[in-house]
Amino acid sequence: MKNPLHICILGGGFGGLYTAIYLQHFLLFKSPNCKITLVDRNDRLTFTPLLYELVTDELQAWEIGPDYQKILSDRNVNFCQGIVEGVDLEKRQVKLKKNSDNREELLTYDYLVLAVGVQMRLEGVPGAATYAYTFRTIADAERLKQRLKILENTASKIIQVAVVGGGPSGVELACKLADRLGKRGQVRLIERGNELLKTFSPYSRKSAIKALKARRIEVDFDTSIEAVESDKILIFQNGERSYSPVDLVLWTVGNRSIDWVRNLPCQQNDRGQLLTLPTLQLVDYPEVLALGDLAEIQYHPQKQLPATAQVAYQQASCAAKNLYLAARGKRLQKFRYLHLGEMLTLGKGAAVVSSFALKVDGGLAGGIRQFVYLQRLPTLRHQLRVLRHWIGKWLRGLKGGGS
Ligand SMILES: Cc1cc2nc3c(=O)[nH]c(=O)nc-3n(C[C@H](O)[C@H](O)[C@H](O)COP(=O)(O)OP(=O)(O)OC[C@H]3O[C@@H](n4cnc5c(N)ncnc54)[C@H](O)[C@@H]3O)c2cc1C
Repeated sequence: MKNPLHICILGGGFGGLYTAIYLQHFLLFKSPNCKITLVDRNDRLTFTPLLYELVTDELQAWEIGPDYQKILSDRNVNFCQGIVEGVDLEKRQVKLKKNSDNREELLTYDYLVLAVGVQMRLEGVPGAATYAYTFRTIADAERLKQRLKILENTASKIIQVAVVGGGPSGVELACKLADRLGKRGQVRLIERGNELLKTFSPYSRKSAIKALKARRIEVDFDTSIEAVESDKILIFQNGERSYSPVDLVLWTVGNRSIDWVRNLPCQQNDRGQLLTLPTLQLVDYPEVLALGDLAEIQYHPQKQLPATAQVAYQQASCAAKNLYLAARGKRLQKFRYLHLGEMLTLGKGAAVVSSFALKVDGGLAGGIRQFVYLQRLPTLRHQLRVLRHWIGKWLRGLKGGGS
């Protein structure tokens, strides 16, 4: 009997997990003649846009981190929890270490989807890797909450927090931390350049600045961090170096490719992202599709796509379609990106939403943002479970006279 067609998807984030889900729209991939394997080092998704809500306890980890086994339970996709250590593109083999028994395993594939994202780069600044907190995963959020609890239980009147990076993660995190810490919090946002949210619309920027001001968050422009210690940071500002005391440092800047991705023998840009054709295929390996943060697609000579969930999510749908076309021996389609707008959370229950003609901020935007993301959570079953939980919470709030 002929071996079933094997599609191997590495990385269960916005690119990889949603490719696996979209593949199920095709009858061909539901059949026993096709085997699909999704590999991730974690056992659950991190729905990053809603990660900030864990800091303020607006959401719980289960809501934004559904279990892969459960998501895929009624689909023709095997989930394999393991750490990918490398890919041999010539032999079409993936080398991974399985979490269950620490054993090395080789997976062979007919088609491969590379979607393991990127990792944070902290090595450039002495002490950052040891003392600064990263914020990318549910485990990071849990670790941050533990630290916050310790600080909140001390006798000190002020809790000093430095958030490094004036991009969306820095701004969103600073607002949530300020709301969580209330009067005790002294939150400072440190940005190397001279503006916040560089790639965002003027409306979103204005709303963000308003939200930062309302929370008395100090913003330091043209400032870089040169070292992080357990209780202070060394900053370079206005041509001078000085130490500032700090209880907590959050690091939101600097991404780099995962080492084995950087070592793949294929074309890459100067940031180590894999270069793909407009069809998402690697230039020299047409049976491999790369998407999400780890790839730069030849999209438009003057325009680069941003590293966002929105891009990865749309690419996932194109990747599934192209795998179908490839399996049928047909011509693959070019990826087309439709920018649907931008959303940022700006503190507890608040946000800014800018999408086509819709521009709104505050509580209403907070509600819109949550509902938009609710319908982006994987599987209808999980969406309904979360929605039921929100309605229950809201009803309990009404009964208790809360908001
Ligand atoms: C805190 C935060 C908030 C964000 N908010 C937004 C937002 O509001 N809107 C937006 O559009 N974008 C947002 N982003 C960006 C968005 O999360 C990324 O652009 C998107 O997740 C990229 O998708 P991806 O599939 O490339 O990678 P990821 O979603 O990062 O998925 C990569 C997966 O690969 C797995 N993996 C990595 N290495 C290995 C390995 N060696 N072996 C096995 N598995 C591995 C990881 O566990 C992960 O599940 C945010 C990012 C962060 C960190």
